[in-house]
Amino acid sequence: MLNATNSPIRGIIPPHMLEEIAKRGTTRQKDWALHNLTFAGFVRGQRQAMAALPTAAAVGHKYRTVNDNKHEGGNPPTGALVFKEGDPASADPAVNEAYDGAGATYDLYYDVYQRNSIDNRGMSIVSFVHYESNFNNAFWDGSEMVYGDGDGDIFDRFTKCIDVIGHELTHGVTQHEANLAYSGQPGALNESMSDVFGSLVKQRVLNQTADKADWLIGAGLLTSKIQGQALRSMKAPGTAYDDPVLGKDPQPADMQHYVKTSSDNGGVHINSGIPNRAFYLAATAIGGNAWEKAGKIWYVALRDRLRSNSTFKRAATATISVAKELFGDGSNEMKAVQDAWKGVGVI
Ligand SMILES: [Zn+2]
Repeated sequence: MLNATNSPIRGIIPPHMLEEIAKRGTTRQKDWALHNLTFAGFVRGQRQAMAALPTAAAVGHKYRTVNDNKHEGGNPPTGALVFKEGDPASADPAVNEAYDGAGATYDLYYDVYQRNSIDNRGMSIVSFVHYESNFNNAFWDGSEMVYGDGDGDIFDRFTKCIDVIGHELTHGVTQHEANLAYSGQPGALNESMSDVFGSLVKQRVLNQTADKADWLIGAGLLTSKIQGQALRSMKAPGTAYDDPVLGKDPQPADMQHYVKTSSDNGGVHINSGIPNRAFYLAATAIGGNAWEKAGKIWYVALRDRLRSNSTFKRAATATISVAKELFGDGSNEMKAVQDAWKGVGVI
């Protein structure tokens, strides 16, 4: 039996999805799903080892590089530098997308929250594209972004979705701030923070107000052969896909349907549906651009209030108190945040 509990790769494709593919996919799909599941533990060891080391150079301003792995893999990934800050557009769409996605993420954090890169000290954002062959994931390995090309069968290339890029880079921000433990409720909050800011990166690039956004994570990543529109829905958790190979989206939308499981590190990619929907409810009740007010409230909570063992209840009290401080006691913003957490049954 597969056991993903010990393989918490913070890749965009969660273990529960890989487990479904390993059970129901074609022989080829089963092979890579199993590879991805075992690969995860390896990366985790690498990430822990790197946690003690200085991360990529802090240059003090926006600076991005892209390396081409040329399908060679490796841990850490190998591959020469093919693109750096300010270069003219590449002929390789994966290079441009990795660069632009890193830029849009940097800009959200810098322009709106005055955060200087992942570590708030201007660390360079390094990306590796074309990782391995037909690699079906994208992940932050603790100091750099790594993207597979997808198999073209279930998944398209992983640089395609700007919210996926924002999601993965936000794992780096969380690592430098609240450092939420990657299991149970703190782990689901860790995942949710990545979905929140990943979606905000996309909404800001598209200049969409909260009521116009699709609130999907990874829309366009699943190929047309798959019955589904995205990996997750923040607006309607549990409805993103329903497919013979991938199974059905397992996310609950409220505490009544909280999933108790030892799989997926205690359901970190599953129960994240609950705080995701709380953010959606708060942002749409506040109105306007979600990154301006709701995003600011969540960012300050992540930076200053949450700790490694924070639960959903703690996230609720933290965001309510931040809303009170930023916008006033009894303000519409504070009420919207309160109602949102009530709406998903956390308080
Ligand atoms: Zn994640």
